[in-house]
Amino acid sequence: MRFTDDIYVYEWTNYFDNNCNSFYIGGSVKALIDPGLSSYVPNLLESMELDGITKGDIKYVINTHSHPDHFEGSKLFNDSNVKIALHEDEIAFMNGDGAKLYNLFGLTPPDVKINLILKTGNIVLGEETFQILLVPGHSPGSIGLYWPAKKILFPGDVIFNQNVGRTDFPGGSGALLKKSITALSKLDVETLLPGHMEVVDGAERVKQNFQMVMKSIFPYI
Ligand SMILES: [Zn+2]
Repeated sequence: MRFTDDIYVYEWTNYFDNNCNSFYIGGSVKALIDPGLSSYVPNLLESMELDGITKGDIKYVINTHSHPDHFEGSKLFNDSNVKIALHEDEIAFMNGDGAKLYNLFGLTPPDVKINLILKTGNIVLGEETFQILLVPGHSPGSIGLYWPAKKILFPGDVIFNQNVGRTDFPGGSGALLKKSITALSKLDVETLLPGHMEVVDGAERVKQNFQMVMKSIFPYI
């Protein structure tokens, strides 16, 4: 559903099965953030079509990290017209322990043709400039995708509404997650669009969410 301007939010609401929230940035950007599990991509595309977005409109698939519930469906976009993106550190992880994680869930590591290797720093998508922030802890090459002009942050599974991403998967680290969340908390953010659970909307609520997480959850990770 349309969230604001060119941002579309496809929140995962089936509590009997895990999948991630997916997002689409329209306008000149045309980027799908985290397609989710392959089996749910058809549902996602149907929901997007109800908003007037077709698969052919998508120019980028930006993956916040390589965990199955975010990344597996990227393989359905192996197509020369779509740039499929993953951070260089997460690509290295997928060549080792990251692939093993798929086996742990009874899945086969997907054959995704990554043709946009993300590096920390600015990236221009369409006519908009975004920042790729390397935020390890939940996985070694997790990114935060920050859109300064709109004060929007896609933190993947680093921070949620009143919670944080798991650190017990291969490549996870509580110490690094805390460092990453602390770094993200310093950004000027009005809308937090996390990989699971609800959107956190409003500068004050986003700020309070970071403070709550740092105060109440950091002691346990
Ligand atoms: Zn994850």
